[in-house]
Amino acid sequence: MSNILFISDLHLTPERPQTMQLFLKFVAEIAARADTLYILGDFLEVWWGDDDSASGYQEVFNALSNLATEQQTHVYLMHGNRDFMIGNALAMRCHFTLIDEPYKLQLAGKKSLLIHGDSLCTDDIEYQKFRDMVRNPLWQQQVLSKTLEERYALAHAIREKSKVNTAMKTKDIMDVNEKATQQLFIDEKIDLLIHGHTHRQAFHHLTINNKPAQRIVLGDWGEHGNYLRVDSNTIEMIDYTGLT
Ligand code: MN
Repeated sequence: MSNILFISDLHLTPERPQTMQLFLKFVAEIAARADTLYILGDFLEVWWGDDDSASGYQEVFNALSNLATEQQTHVYLMHGNRDFMIGNALAMRCHFTLIDEPYKLQLAGKKSLLIHGDSLCTDDIEYQKFRDMVRNPLWQQQVLSKTLEERYALAHAIREKSKVNTAMKTKDIMDVNEKATQQLFIDEKIDLLIHGHTHRQAFHHLTINNKPAQRIVLGDWGEHGNYLRVDSNTIEMIDYTGLT
């Protein structure tokens, strides 16, 4: 019986070693026994090109690589709004498969869709402009032609601007837009949507075209983690404290 796991928004950074250790433990204890692991974006807090030697991430990258090659867990990774520059070189180094959103699959008999989640935050018009910019391959190419120092300076400037903007926004603006969400269910003909990004971990029971549907929001990781586990007939959200 297949055992599929979903995680999102770990925001891993060497500046938060506790969360990194928690992830390493999760890989060894939980993901190693799964058939498939989907990472739905914002796995890394910052990533500005696979040419980054990223010495602080060595353990995490090795763990991912071992997970795929030694434990035979298939690992799929989708970009988030923090790690959209993860490319094929890192994917090859860590043995995961990069997937584009929206990603369709069948889960526990449900027509399902995976996204990071930021595309549904349509009330935040300023953010959507930013998203269009950074997801543009031409913009990415231009950025990659800069030195790493220049890229990190740019990242810092973007981060500072976003902090100021976020502080002025109401909480609702940064959640998914209900209409856009319903439209996605209709357009993609799905019963189940799984995403992260908002850090508002929840199971939402919806009615779309008079039929029951579900929207599952994965939480972010900090001192604790969380993951969604799906097999042929169950879907469950599990908190992961690392204490066994
Ligand atoms: Mn995000």
